[in-house]
Amino acid sequence: MSEATTTTAAYLDPALPVPERVADLLGRMTVAEKVGQMLQLDARGDYEGDILHKHVGSILHTSPHRLERAHELVQQTRLRIPLLVGEDCIHGHSFYEGATIFPTQLGMAASWDPGLVEQAARITAVEAAATGVHWTFSPVLCIARDLRWGRVDETFGEDPYLIGELASAMVRGYQGSGFDDPTAVLATAKHFAGYSETQGGRDASEADISRRKLRSWFLPPFERVAKEGCATFMLGYQTMDGVPITINDWLLNDVLRGEWGYTGTLITDWDNVGRMVWEQKVQPDHAHAAAAAVRAGNDMVMTTPQFFEGAQEAIDRGLLAESDLDRAVARILTLKFELGLFENPRRPTLDRDAALIGSAAHAEANLELTRRSLVLLRNTGALPLAGGFTARDDAGRATGAGADRPRRVAVVGPLADAAQAQLGDWAGSSGQADWLPDGHPRHMISTVLDGLRDLTPQDWTLTSALGAEIVTLVTPPEGDTLPDGQPRPKIAVPCEPDAELIGEAVAQAREADYVVAVVGDQVELVGEYKSTATLELVGGQVALLDALAETGTPLVVVVMASKPLVLPTSALAADALLWVANPGMRGGQAIAELLLGLIEPSGRLPISFARHVGQQPTYYNQVRGQHGTRYADLTQEPAFVFGEGLSYSSVEYAGLEVLDPEVAADGVVRARVTLANTGARPVRETVQVYVSDSVTSASWADKELKGYRQVDLEPGARTVVELDLPVAACTIVDREGRRVVEPGAFELLVGPSSRDADLLRAGFEVLPG
Ligand code: BGC
Repeated sequence: MSEATTTTAAYLDPALPVPERVADLLGRMTVAEKVGQMLQLDARGDYEGDILHKHVGSILHTSPHRLERAHELVQQTRLRIPLLVGEDCIHGHSFYEGATIFPTQLGMAASWDPGLVEQAARITAVEAAATGVHWTFSPVLCIARDLRWGRVDETFGEDPYLIGELASAMVRGYQGSGFDDPTAVLATAKHFAGYSETQGGRDASEADISRRKLRSWFLPPFERVAKEGCATFMLGYQTMDGVPITINDWLLNDVLRGEWGYTGTLITDWDNVGRMVWEQKVQPDHAHAAAAAVRAGNDMVMTTPQFFEGAQEAIDRGLLAESDLDRAVARILTLKFELGLFENPRRPTLDRDAALIGSAAHAEANLELTRRSLVLLRNTGALPLAGGFTARDDAGRATGAGADRPRRVAVVGPLADAAQAQLGDWAGSSGQADWLPDGHPRHMISTVLDGLRDLTPQDWTLTSALGAEIVTLVTPPEGDTLPDGQPRPKIAVPCEPDAELIGEAVAQAREADYVVAVVGDQVELVGEYKSTATLELVGGQVALLDALAETGTPLVVVVMASKPLVLPTSALAADALLWVANPGMRGGQAIAELLLGLIEPSGRLPISFARHVGQQPTYYNQVRGQHGTRYADLTQEPAFVFGEGLSYSSVEYAGLEVLDPEVAADGVVRARVTLANTGARPVRETVQVYVSDSVTSASWADKELKGYRQVDLEPGARTVVELDLPVAACTIVDREGRRVVEPGAFELLVGPSSRDADLLRAGFEVLPG
């Protein structure tokens, strides 16, 4: 096409309606250009060739300098179709040096605060958009069930309702006020669906899951964001009932496109199309795999370079018609037109917006979310340290009550000062990007040691010691690369306890008024291909805690772990125990504030902690019916349950009352409960509302979270909390797979956690409709 034709082409005319522009452009495209438009390839590879010769529609993992070049290359292509630039900005703009890195999704979930999660996503979008990213592969809506799975950190935990609330907030935050908003980035609901239902925690293994089980717990969060306009959906890796999700007609077409009426864009996960050939072995070659993927309704194919030749070969061999490509290509082009990329390809705006990246305001919002993500699990009175502080001096240090005499604190453990490890997976140097070998700038990250150094009174003494190492890495016997050319993660070999390291930490603990031990996991034990067989603290950490406990010095254990771990008695019986998921850049500051009592602990567990790896799964909303309630050799009780978390005060719940115990099927259950802060410090209490359906036509969970409210109470204050629950939320999925409310007896359960002993109960009856 000549220059003149291109500039007068209808598709370049912004005044024309999008469908006309799409039809015009589609009519001009060759088969190769159409196939390329469906491809998203890894910009760490030959992205120049991919843009010029494979005509790719999208790139991901694009370092800043490659991005500039990529846009220039598009200008050399025949039709100059702009690129969609995707990235995994999943807890902040993860791979942009100096961006704001938030707690992981699991950490965010512990806040139970959709407003703060939405704000984190908004900030991420603003930072990502300024650097030219259009599309983030976030949020994750998978339900975490088997804690051995390596990607528990990426989830919002184990409960479908909480996942739905937070995912919805995150999508709103990313997508801003809509496609016209220059700071909007496309959100991705992933990994649709059932990916987390692994076998033995093994990543991407066959999900042995019935359609009814999917509809009951795994699909509802996805349905919610599909209907709320989440722009894209990513399809999980796994097979289900023998069929890879990528070609699962029932899930993609009957449910997502059909029942839910979803019109957004579908993207495969990494090489899903190729994996059908080399991994799952359900397609003989890439031509068949490409044909199957196109026919099943995929729009964009992530990182299967062979799709380019495969799809064309499929057309040559009659496995696919050229027109089969048009639906997907039209959808991608529509998205690009709607985003206005043909007029403005949304290149980086750093000349104008650089100061936004990692700005002080963003760090402050990050700090607030991080504070709210910390979960205090045990406290015999050791916290807050020195009885707690109420004020800060001009330098921000704790001052006032509590500062009666200088204290000595030993800050020990392998994660006390491990800045990059603290950020967790999908950030900086965690392995997915090759342009940040040293991670994020050290000065932006506050470790626990930094936080305590900055915030303890001037006359306190801090010492620090490593105490233990976690793992060393060795090359797997199969070699360094996976069959698709990706690096194969190294094998993490637990370090032996080191008497010298432990001795040093113990010596410091003996001299101290308090010992703060920061233990947990590190990225080599987290993520894709890195599920764990065990859940215990790895390496020399248990020996370290045991030795510290023996010193008799008040022991505060901070478990900084990507996911719930099985903790030794020395941690479970410590004077205080705090869980923080990977807490992001402001983690150390927030933790120090909590330890010193400058803030109140308010996080609640979005996921249960097992006592033993053999208890898997430990999620709270299990289906009723089994022989007995325990193992012969162990309780089935988790160590800590969903919803649990302490404050520095105590709250009493009383007088739960359902106002109208008989309610119509289209009605609302109205209830109230009285809360009293009976302690000496303010609290933010998360009042949790569960429902139990007394008798169901098909087996069902004994209780399910249906709502919650966060309530602030000053010491001594008492308040009546009104709770409204639509009966329409009191559903089960019947044996035909329909979501229904079954009339009859129910119980409303209200309290501070999902543990039966913590819940007040009141009955109500749903009348026949
Ligand atoms: C992960 C996705 C991610 C994609 C792109 C895959 O391996 O499963 O969650 O978005 O890579 O990095």
